Amino acid sequence: MVSCERCSKEAKMLLPYGPHNFCEEHFLYFFENRVRRTTRKHGMVKAGEKIAVGVSGGKDSATTLYLLHKMFSRVNEIEAVMIDEGIPGYRDKALAEGKALCKELCIAFTVYSYKKELAVSMEEVKEKIDLNSGLGSTCSFCGVFRRHLLNKGAVDVGADRIATGHNLDDEVQSICMNFFDNDFSRMARLGAVVGSNGIKGLVPRIKPLYESPEKEVIAFAALKELPHYSDECCPFSSQAKRNYFREMLNKMEANLPGTKFSVLRSFEQLKPLLEKTAEHGKARYCERCGNATTTSTCTVCLKLDQLILEKKVAKKQKEKTLTCATTKY
Ligand code: SF4
Ligand code: ZN
Repeated sequence: MVSCERCSKEAKMLLPYGPHNFCEEHFLYFFENRVRRTTRKHGMVKAGEKIAVGVSGGKDSATTLYLLHKMFSRVNEIEAVMIDEGIPGYRDKALAEGKALCKELCIAFTVYSYKKELAVSMEEVKEKIDLNSGLGSTCSFCGVFRRHLLNKGAVDVGADRIATGHNLDDEVQSICMNFFDNDFSRMARLGAVVGSNGIKGLVPRIKPLYESPEKEVIAFAALKELPHYSDECCPFSSQAKRNYFREMLNKMEANLPGTKFSVLRSFEQLKPLLEKTAEHGKARYCERCGNATTTSTCTVCLKLDQLILEKKVAKKQKEKTLTCATTKY
């Protein structure tokens, strides 16, 4: 039997990168303490600030909401912002869990739906992509829309910061993907705190789980019995590339414990250089919707345009088919 390094009980959590061996109680203590240190080290939360937490109903956002509430609710106001992408049978179930957690913690929440705010659900986006693969991936639309609505939600509730549930694995996958893509401008925008560069209307984002491995987040949410949805993955997921990096990094971590933390530390050392050399477009506001952007039209409007054009092309194709059919007869 392997004993917990802090008491004589049996160790249930073996963390080879430390190495650390913890019983359940001391694992929870260790995990919570690390999140507290992450928030302090990166100056994520200042007393009196209002924090909007993006809640999806999954284990990451449930853990983020629970811990921020536990650590800061005495001096900070915390409110949840939920995004309903319009993915039936998936997000509706997850949001029900998210709402249950908010109720348990007495935290106010607001739900923003793609359909209501942007007039298109992800189900409809998926249908269009199925008809025309040239549109790109479902996730490329979903990510742009989600960031926009999370920011809108935070502005609406008067929040100073938006907390998201990104964990160590998410961050390290993004670092590697950008490195392999030679996209250093994008890589420079990663990190524990993503500032607003002083742009009015853009709320800085913080990632309290930035140094917490995914496996440990799963264990924490389960041991704490936090309401969260874990039955299945998004049926519209098109993140083949991210999955490839996830698999590669998990294999490396299994053979070379500590790899993920090493990648994160290397990135942190590089970040000041990346920020100096990255191209920073001048902050401005979208000519059409007023969103903060660096180009004349923001990415949300550009993505919506793609869908509208697709609708027009589909209509034209339908007309053409009808004409052909008429000619035949
Ligand atoms: Fe959206 Fe892709 Fe996430 Fe599904 S997997 S919720 S489509 S970003
Ligand atoms: Zn716009």
